[in-house]
Amino acid sequence: MEVVPGIHTIEGLGAGRAYLIVEAGGLTLVDTGLRGSAKAVLATVAAVERGPDDIRRIVITHHHGDHTGALAELAERSGAEVLAHALDAPVIRGEQPPPGPRFGGPLRPLLARTAPTGAPARVDRELTGDEELDCLGGLRVLHTPGHTPGSISLYSAAQRLLFTGDAAMHLFGVRPPLRLFTEDRATARASLARLAALQIDVALFGHGRPIEHAAGRRFRGAAERLA
Ligand SMILES: [Zn+2]
Ligand SMILES: [Zn+2]
Repeated sequence: MEVVPGIHTIEGLGAGRAYLIVEAGGLTLVDTGLRGSAKAVLATVAAVERGPDDIRRIVITHHHGDHTGALAELAERSGAEVLAHALDAPVIRGEQPPPGPRFGGPLRPLLARTAPTGAPARVDRELTGDEELDCLGGLRVLHTPGHTPGSISLYSAAQRLLFTGDAAMHLFGVRPPLRLFTEDRATARASLARLAALQIDVALFGHGRPIEHAAGRRFRGAAERLA
């Protein structure tokens, strides 16, 4: 589905969403869905009359398996440059185990086993949060830690448009990420408050429906409830 001209949300991934940005210079993919999602992603690429080779870059918002699941396959099939924050890159590469759920008592091992994982994948460029990508008239990488240490969001000031990753979710309203897999809740709340200070019309979430108009008000409301 095309949310705004040139930006498609990829649904049918089982958990969460990925996004495809279509520009004359090539395609940018934001996240990849669960393992096994490559087919759905490439169907969206085909629907805009492009092929896997046209994917120029893949930006991963954080290391969780519902965002990195199909990365290894898509990176290989597209040859795209893969970007992720330096703090999450070791988990994405499989050099460090994911930290697992934050609570659950005796159920923790079970929860850890059922948490989605991605196959180890390459990361070509490690981000710090000061970059501006050559996309959507300048897409700023914002380091929004808490959910994971290397969580990022992507912001286009020109289009007043934000990809939140999991730094915010749109589930029964705009809210901070779910507790179970959020590594540091206080930091995650602070990141959401920082996002609320941006000028945002369009918000594109890792989980939940996009907000296409006046999204900033909803973020400010969420930040006020947390304060
Ligand atoms: Zn996550
Ligand atoms: Zn997620």
